Amino acid sequence: MTKMPKNRSEAIAAGTKTYMTGKPCILGEISERSTKTKLCLCDKHKEATSANKREYYKEVREHRIAYALSYQTQNKEKARSYRDKYIEKDPVAAKAIARAHYERNRELTIQRSHDWFKNNKEKAKARAKIWASNNREALTAYGRNRKKRIRARTPSWFSELDLFILDEAYTLAVARKQLTGFNWHVDHMIPLYSRTASGLHLGCNIQVIPDYMNLMKQNKMMLTDHFEWMLYVQD
Ligand SMILES: [Zn+2]
Repeated sequence: MTKMPKNRSEAIAAGTKTYMTGKPCILGEISERSTKTKLCLCDKHKEATSANKREYYKEVREHRIAYALSYQTQNKEKARSYRDKYIEKDPVAAKAIARAHYERNRELTIQRSHDWFKNNKEKAKARAKIWASNNREALTAYGRNRKKRIRARTPSWFSELDLFILDEAYTLAVARKQLTGFNWHVDHMIPLYSRTASGLHLGCNIQVIPDYMNLMKQNKMMLTDHFEWMLYVQD
């Protein structure tokens, strides 16, 4: 084994990455030093360095987020094309990331969706129409299996009263259409099939809401409380 150089010039001459002076460092440890940086490599120094780094990242975190946001708003097209490229490259990973983000920020996402929807009803309707025409096959399949899916979510305690409420809901949808001039849908407040919850096909889970709201809602966990939808009706 070669002898450890005692100082930096010896280390440089020998071409070693570290040297050992044998004197305690400022934190009282006797350890190797880096030939490149002269810095002590003892555990205490290592710990202090990583603590400093953590502090530094905490300090600059806000700045980095603010910078990224301002960059994205000022370079919308560029940011979008980067994102599209990424999605194209690995659609599965992109979807997983998007889903994780949604789960982390669920409430905020729903609130934003509500707010956007409230201010962009016409746009929302137009988008839903475009979406429907682009997904006609999936929608047809969805419609074919509708009865099956409803049956699967109908509990054994579905009663005469539930049937009555459902009948009334359909009657109400027709009456409301005559009054307002647009379509109304009979909707399950808690969707029968959503990622985070599964509602039941029961009278207590039924509401009659404008069609465009139902189109926006799809199977998302929104407009799930009694009369919540009324908050989003145009004044
Ligand atoms: Zn040290």
